Amino acid sequence: MADLVVRSRRAVTPAGQRPAAVEIADGRIVAVHEYGARIDADHDIDLGELALLPGLVDTHVHVNEPGRTEWEGFATATRAAAAGGVTAIIDMPLNSIPPTVTVAALEVKRAAAAGQCHVDVGFWGGAVPGNTDDLPALHDAGVFGFKAFLADSGVPEFPPLDPDGLAGALAGVDARFVLHAEDPHHLHAAASSPAYADFLASRPPDAEHAAVATAIAAARAARARVHILHLSAADALPLIAAARADGVRVTAETCPHYLTLDAAEIPAGATEFKCCPPIRDAANADRLWAALANGLISCVVSDHSPCTPELKHADSGDFAAAWGGIASVQLGLPVVWTAARARGHSLAEVVDWMARRPADLVGLTRKGRLAVGADADLVAFDPDATFTVDPSRLHHRNPVTPYAGRTLSGVVHTTWLRGRSVTGDQPHGRLLEREDP
Ligand SMILES: [Zn+2]
Repeated sequence: MADLVVRSRRAVTPAGQRPAAVEIADGRIVAVHEYGARIDADHDIDLGELALLPGLVDTHVHVNEPGRTEWEGFATATRAAAAGGVTAIIDMPLNSIPPTVTVAALEVKRAAAAGQCHVDVGFWGGAVPGNTDDLPALHDAGVFGFKAFLADSGVPEFPPLDPDGLAGALAGVDARFVLHAEDPHHLHAAASSPAYADFLASRPPDAEHAAVATAIAAARAARARVHILHLSAADALPLIAAARADGVRVTAETCPHYLTLDAAEIPAGATEFKCCPPIRDAANADRLWAALANGLISCVVSDHSPCTPELKHADSGDFAAAWGGIASVQLGLPVVWTAARARGHSLAEVVDWMARRPADLVGLTRKGRLAVGADADLVAFDPDATFTVDPSRLHHRNPVTPYAGRTLSGVVHTTWLRGRSVTGDQPHGRLLEREDP
């Protein structure tokens, strides 16, 4: 007998949206039936016209615990994730202290996370100058790959790699590498200013273009896997397309804010919009949408990167002084769905971008899909309901958001992790380890 059946007239399966009944036993999906199928189960939930989605997989989240837990912690980040329909996150190796650059540091992270997570949590390792010898053991310990910066990361304990350092890291371990691709030689010091245009001018598209070229050259030389994080500058897309056509193993992601926010509309002093690379103009966003539609950009992940309100310098509104980062793990699905629908995209495409493909990026073959054998990570979602973003209803630690006051489509009703609904009381998330060799 099944533990649970969840029925929906709008189940988003790998074959598209259709009426279905998902049968669950021992936390896994054991069958996907016709909507009205008779199934013996302890619990039988009929969502009717609510959509049933696989839980989203967000491979780009900064939790910051331990060390900067006042910015964000595991309990709050994962509670926010669950409320946003995200059932697995992969934590970035920096902004926590210590950064995840050795096996010992990974153990510190795991100990900090254990018992507090409302969704499943995996970890990226970090590649920094001097730790190339640590990478194989850190990979064996279960990280999903390695993040590196090509420009200043914003924190002193996670310095960037130069091109030689990147080549050394890629040669040192057969792993996926995820890169913050801005080239330091094309970045300018931003003058103290409340004008967004001054900050934007300090981080031009050239910086991303040059760094993507560096990343591709390194991937080509080492025959390595390289993933471009949070691509903002559409100018870099042709480089990625050409490299892929040439057989270089390079992929790219973008984020909800690059797709949906417009530099021209950012108010003076509104530092909640500051992130690196920066939000660019509407024509740039149109090109990112086109790349998403044709598969050149493979996924959309949050780059949830919070800090304290003080570090956002809201009172002075000084873009140069403010910490760069947008916290959106709870809002990514409705933000992207609202804009995607207006552009004629289906909910199945959004699920592909935000669940299946991020899961595939990190080799989590049992996540991100409503399919037999997958974990029963599910989301009941009303694609047609609207809500207005109220920061006081955000679960992450510091509810600073550029989406405050926006009306969005898409409301998450229930999130299940391995067949159990996530209520915010008992955390039952697990710590994930890389599954592929
Ligand atoms: Zn990030």
